[in-house]
Amino acid sequence: MPELPEVETVVNVLKPQIIDLTVSRITINKPQVIAYPAVEEFCTRLTGQKISGMKRRGKFIIICFASGDQLILHLRMTGCLLVTPAEDNIADHTHVIFELENNTQLRFIDTRRFGRFWMIKKGEEDNVSGINKLGIEPFDAVLTADYLQSILSNRKKTIKECLLDQSLIAGIGNIYSDEILFRANIDPMRKANTLNSCELERLAAEIPRTLKYYMEKNEITPEEYLKKQGRGYNNSSFLNVYGQDNKLCPVCGEILHRRVIGGRSSVYCQNCQK
Ligand SMILES: [Zn+2]
Repeated sequence: MPELPEVETVVNVLKPQIIDLTVSRITINKPQVIAYPAVEEFCTRLTGQKISGMKRRGKFIIICFASGDQLILHLRMTGCLLVTPAEDNIADHTHVIFELENNTQLRFIDTRRFGRFWMIKKGEEDNVSGINKLGIEPFDAVLTADYLQSILSNRKKTIKECLLDQSLIAGIGNIYSDEILFRANIDPMRKANTLNSCELERLAAEIPRTLKYYMEKNEITPEEYLKKQGRGYNNSSFLNVYGQDNKLCPVCGEILHRRVIGGRSSVYCQNCQK
């Protein structure tokens, strides 16, 4: 599932390719991916609109229009966005096509079909996408040890589950929660309300540092991105623990273990993470 660094990559690659272009036509092959409003209104309203920006919030992608309307997308498990020449073959599982005025297309492809679009009109309150329930951004200066203390001190859940909770901090998923906790030397099973000030300091530092590191490792050219159909993540070979169970800890050489915590698997080093 794409997490903050991957969504950031999508935005960085696609934004220069779609900004200032007008949507000339929209084709929807799977109406279920349009969560809000009704498909007809979605198409009618956005056709003819000029794209003025693209940004990320948590794991959501937001495409802004000059009118003030916004198109919100969550890729969920397998969704991906591509900008392709109009004449390129249409891949299987292409559910939405935005034709752009320069003879390119913004295509949404999703094998498992969990990805969703919402269109929010200018001035309309967004109570539908879930963005309004997100916690702070990991790069927000507000994220300090004191802030973590304030949001975690009454949580009896594990720190792993708290990092996955989008209403606390937005954008972190299973991959980067494992990596953040490894770098902060914190056992993912620890109850969040038991972390001491030293551990909270490490966590506050490692959340943005880890995400930034993997964002940088994810850098990709638009050509390579398209060649890999938006699914190639260059940073996966730099992961220390995620998906590495039964391999050796890159720091101490002990075997990495996998535990299921709150229904999600977590890989960690029993020796380095306390
Ligand atoms: Zn270790």
